[in-house]
Amino acid sequence: MTLVRRRAKALWIYAIIIVFFAFCLFLARRFLPNSSFSNILFGSVSHGGCKIITKGNYDKLILKGVVLTPKGPLQDGYVLVESGKVAEVGTSYSSESQDTLITVVDCANSVISPGFINLHEHLTYSIVSPFKDLGERVSHRHDWRVGARNRTIREALVAEDMIGDSIKWGELRHLFSGTTSVVGGGMVTGLVRNLDFASGLEAGLLDAPSVWDVFPLDDADGILRNNDCDYGPEAIDRQRAEKYHRYLAHVGEGVDDEAANEFRCLSDETYDSLPMPGGGGLSTDIIAPNLAMVHALGLSASDFDLVAKRGAHIIWSPRSNMFLYGKTLNITYLLEAGINVALGTDWLPSGSATMSREAHCAALATQQLYGRHLEAKTIWEMMTINAARAASFEQHIGSLEVGKLADIVIFTESTGDVYSQAVFGSTENIEMVLRGGRVLLVGDKLGGLSSSHCEPVQIGRSRKAICIADELGLSYAEFAASLAGFYPAALPSIPPYEPLCDAIVS
Ligand SMILES: [Zn+2]
Repeated sequence: MTLVRRRAKALWIYAIIIVFFAFCLFLARRFLPNSSFSNILFGSVSHGGCKIITKGNYDKLILKGVVLTPKGPLQDGYVLVESGKVAEVGTSYSSESQDTLITVVDCANSVISPGFINLHEHLTYSIVSPFKDLGERVSHRHDWRVGARNRTIREALVAEDMIGDSIKWGELRHLFSGTTSVVGGGMVTGLVRNLDFASGLEAGLLDAPSVWDVFPLDDADGILRNNDCDYGPEAIDRQRAEKYHRYLAHVGEGVDDEAANEFRCLSDETYDSLPMPGGGGLSTDIIAPNLAMVHALGLSASDFDLVAKRGAHIIWSPRSNMFLYGKTLNITYLLEAGINVALGTDWLPSGSATMSREAHCAALATQQLYGRHLEAKTIWEMMTINAARAASFEQHIGSLEVGKLADIVIFTESTGDVYSQAVFGSTENIEMVLRGGRVLLVGDKLGGLSSSHCEPVQIGRSRKAICIADELGLSYAEFAASLAGFYPAALPSIPPYEPLCDAIVS
């Protein structure tokens, strides 16, 4: 009897130990999803990345993986890149009996996406650190820009002789995070495509670049108006706006009547017909398909109905909106109204350092402020084809279709929805970035895919190779050393000092 009891007791102890370990495993899984400990336990680190199966020419490349196409994801899909363009998209590519000159890269379980298009940046400020959060949320951009209405001025300073390097640094940061095109008010040759400069479009793009305008109402001095349009004398008018192939303008960056007034002055010719003595002062109507409004935070639902009716576009930068004004657009209203919405990071001081971080904020803010779930696929569209449409380059970039330019980003890790894998993916999980078929960044074992010299770069916990020294004009190592101490270009999954996206609870 005693023996039976002892054995029963021992069994209980074993059972308790097993339950305890199971509980520890659960906790590790639950709270350490990205840790190496968790990865070792659950094997999720063994994603492996891409592998070169056949080594042929540099300009004939098969990329195998889950291909995100306009019609949906292609499991076991492939993209054939030839002479800088997408030559084929399909499924079940077999290396046998195929052209031996083709280089075949197997990225099983990875997601192959069009490169991201960041439609709003101020690249000049790419070396400054994000603003410290003073807990102050303001009502209009002139509040923090020039200290209007006794608010704290927030300054982001870049020395004149550092601007070129700062732009280059910003382009690198976006490239490292899967962005292949940017509208950012500044440019360097090579690296990302600059959709707002004819000389920055890079090989394959010939269309008219977008016009990027921070002060369409000529209000750089901090002019705030309500009930009239007495802004600067050089404010935009319809005649000028009509000439632009695409006009990307900041409108209504604020949450007050003064922000709302800006849209009124740009959408209704009868609103103010009294000219100012020195010129200007009249309202106009520029709401048309060639207009993409940046921020548009001061617009009402009926304003957005007009935007939808006229086929104008909206460029959304939720993180910067949340950090500066504690609010952002009710984006599902705009989407349901049929407005084409593109995503942009705004700038480093108050916005996101990468498009992926902007995507995180887009989902979070929409849930927190409006209780609506924003699908990862919808965000992906805002980062790719919608952005291409807003900038009028949708014939050439923004999706993986035959004849388009091979601007591509590949993300490893196969957990979860394939669109989430792309839009919320960490910089560490990027296995390849191509611009016009040219390999610019690869996993560290894939350096042989580039005809250019590649050098190692540490991105968070992962090691990559970048093949851009010819475009940079010097090695990345030298360039990075010259900018040591500035905000980094190669970022971990969560960038340091990232501005808050959370809604402020008062
Ligand atoms: Zn801006």
